Amino acid sequence: MKKQVCILGSTGSIGTQALDVIRQHADLFEVYCLTANDRYEELAAQAHAFRPAAIVIANEAHYQPLQQLMSDMPEVKVYAGKDALDQIVEADPIDIVLTAMVGFAGLSPTIHAIRARKKIALANKETLVVAGELICQLALQYHVDILPVDSEHCAIFQSLVGEDQNEIDKILLTCSGGPFRLCSHEQLERVTAADALKHPTWEMGAKITIDSATLMNKGFEVMEAKWLFGVPADRIQVLIHPQSIVHSAVQFMDGSVKAQLGVPDMRLPIQYALTFPKRLHLDGDRLDLFRQPLEFLEPDMSKFKCLSLAYDAINRGGNMPCILNAANEVVNAGFRRGDCSFLGMADVIEQTMAQATFDANPDYEVYIQTDAEARRIAAELMNGRQTTR
Ligand code: NDP
Ligand code: MG
Repeated sequence: MKKQVCILGSTGSIGTQALDVIRQHADLFEVYCLTANDRYEELAAQAHAFRPAAIVIANEAHYQPLQQLMSDMPEVKVYAGKDALDQIVEADPIDIVLTAMVGFAGLSPTIHAIRARKKIALANKETLVVAGELICQLALQYHVDILPVDSEHCAIFQSLVGEDQNEIDKILLTCSGGPFRLCSHEQLERVTAADALKHPTWEMGAKITIDSATLMNKGFEVMEAKWLFGVPADRIQVLIHPQSIVHSAVQFMDGSVKAQLGVPDMRLPIQYALTFPKRLHLDGDRLDLFRQPLEFLEPDMSKFKCLSLAYDAINRGGNMPCILNAANEVVNAGFRRGDCSFLGMADVIEQTMAQATFDANPDYEVYIQTDAEARRIAAELMNGRQTTR
């Protein structure tokens, strides 16, 4: 029986690479559902190539034109709207839901998928940043496996295979350092979104590429590792590793360090999440350690304030990571539009964290309210800074 896969966010960087993996293993996987937000033409093209049972366009404004593009394939059901995402993940035939949507919007369908007992291949790290505790509780309650797609967490997960009985001493979370690793503070004042979008080692969607340039992405990944592997943040060490070859490592009580290495290629962690515990052939480059010096450096938290804000949010706990995430989504989009400077992003996030309502024991409803409130505050702060410039 082929595994039926639902890809939330199939038109994005992770989504298209996942389709490449599925194409290479068509004997094992079948696409049950594909979803997108705006790129309905790409979604329709994917539907023609993969013939899923259903497709969903989250932005309802694109429903009519999408339906028209699909008129020659009446067997593919076409749905629109956010609620349709929550409903489609529950469809009986689905075995695995790959959460490759970006941002807070991924939270609700992920919760629905867990409640419907679907295996989760988790790329949407914002889900764990915002509501890690709730997601872990639900996964336990519904006996659902969450397999990490993020390359670092996949590396940690691989390093932990066969180590169930052994305590983790420390997680070594690697980070490329992004395109501005060597920039001075003065240079950072002037960098633009176009500069930030040139990531040295990975090709990813725009939002995560900016998060990688500010190192907010690494702060998010500390939270992601904390929830996925049950290790407190003070035992997760961030190492700048510009080559992105050692994808992360685990140190055990006897001093052994196990790591996973490979050329940067997201198809590997995507495939591993889909096929675990099996490994399958993957085409692509192989690592040549003779040609590859490996460096490890400490991150500069004073230069990359977003990383230190993420640690602050972890230490505060409660809904603070949700506040951090919402403010970050606002300034990240603002920076890409040219409405916020690179260094201004951390300032707005910091002020939003100071102003938004703190809740030490949030539930789902609190996360929804917090997200809305923090977005409003961050947008006001960002627009205020713009008009006083
Ligand atoms: P992209 O921006 O490339 O793709 C995002 C996908 O989500 C697109 O299909 C997009 O649709 C859809 N989408 C965006 N907003 C919404 C919304 N509000 N509702 C429903 N669907 C939406 O992102 P990436 O593929 O780079 O990243 C996806 C997730 O994976 C992120 O959480 C990221 O942090 C994580 N991740 C990504 C990595 C990478 O290498 N790219 C590595 C590790 C983690 P449309 O195309 O129509 O806009
Ligand atoms: Mg990563």
